[in-house]
Amino acid sequence: MTHIEFVKSKIDMAGLYFVYYGSANYETKGYRGISHLMEHLMCHRIDKIENNLLRDGIEWNAFTANDVIMFHWTGLTDKIEKYKYKIIDLMLADFNTKEEIFQNEKKIVLQEYNDGFNVIENAHSENLDRKIYNIYNPIGSKKDLQALTLKDCKLYFDRQFREPHRIIYISKNNEKAAYQHKPHIPNILKTQINAIPFNKYEHEKLTKSYSNSSVIYQSKMIHADFAAIIFICMMLGSGMTSPLYSVLREKHGLVYGTNCWLERKNMASGYISISLTTDKKSANKCIEILKEIVDNPDKYMTRKRYNIIMDMTKVQMRYAELFRYSHVWKYVLPIEWRVHANLEKMTYKNVREIYNKHFKNFQASIDSVEFK
Ligand SMILES: [Zn+2]
Repeated sequence: MTHIEFVKSKIDMAGLYFVYYGSANYETKGYRGISHLMEHLMCHRIDKIENNLLRDGIEWNAFTANDVIMFHWTGLTDKIEKYKYKIIDLMLADFNTKEEIFQNEKKIVLQEYNDGFNVIENAHSENLDRKIYNIYNPIGSKKDLQALTLKDCKLYFDRQFREPHRIIYISKNNEKAAYQHKPHIPNILKTQINAIPFNKYEHEKLTKSYSNSSVIYQSKMIHADFAAIIFICMMLGSGMTSPLYSVLREKHGLVYGTNCWLERKNMASGYISISLTTDKKSANKCIEILKEIVDNPDKYMTRKRYNIIMDMTKVQMRYAELFRYSHVWKYVLPIEWRVHANLEKMTYKNVREIYNKHFKNFQASIDSVEFK
């Protein structure tokens, strides 16, 4: 059995995490979306104790990313302690899903798929990923989802869910206080992803009509400097005084909000994405402004801005330490993806050098899947 990794909690709250590396990165044509569907099915394992968890104020949920699936339970130490081994037993049981539950969850996942494609910016980025990288993300392919059978899930269970890669338990009642972070990540997740010439893809149309346009301004796939890039994304987009917010919203009144992040596709690959919605006639203007901001680090990536984000990050580190029971990512992701673990290397000079390396040749796309 997978051994439990103990982490000492600083407060009277605990968290139990099941981590499965692999996920949508394992999916091949015909099976795209199966990880997410299986995540739903796995959640049924704790049906029997769900009322007890509710009564004891335990919050629990699961999610599927491209490279990892996680199930988590958090609550007061004594409450989590009470269910810890029960949950572990249920999660490690053999595949026992009944046809009826399978059919029902399949319908629910397809509904979630439709909901996802009703949101203009989601539909836009999903279609871009399909077209450029042949990546269908956890949401998967509608055709594939519709064709999945209970037998497919049973086979996939053996591959993905037979045993978790990690069981992490964060509690003040731990047997061991020290923690050695050694994620054993499958090789497939360390293989670099690149754009591929692939013109046949399933373009999923929006089911609603929108008066707004979605604008995506995006880098090429990147294979290094992840932590610093995440830091730079915060410099560009965090808070009301950020370059993106202050120029696009406060100065020009073109957007309600903007998002700027590093989109991780696996442990070795990701791209920088800036996304916003605006009224149809302003989309091109937004792209002009985005270009002006991203191409002018001397004006926007200032030392003053750097100092603010650095100070903020140091405060967030203290939160993460205090609320360790819910800040599990630092135990799950490799060190290259963790801002806090790399903060010392991020001098202003280094940050500007990394900016010059990766924040160039961005491509813009409006609504559809074409970059221009
Ligand atoms: Zn779901």
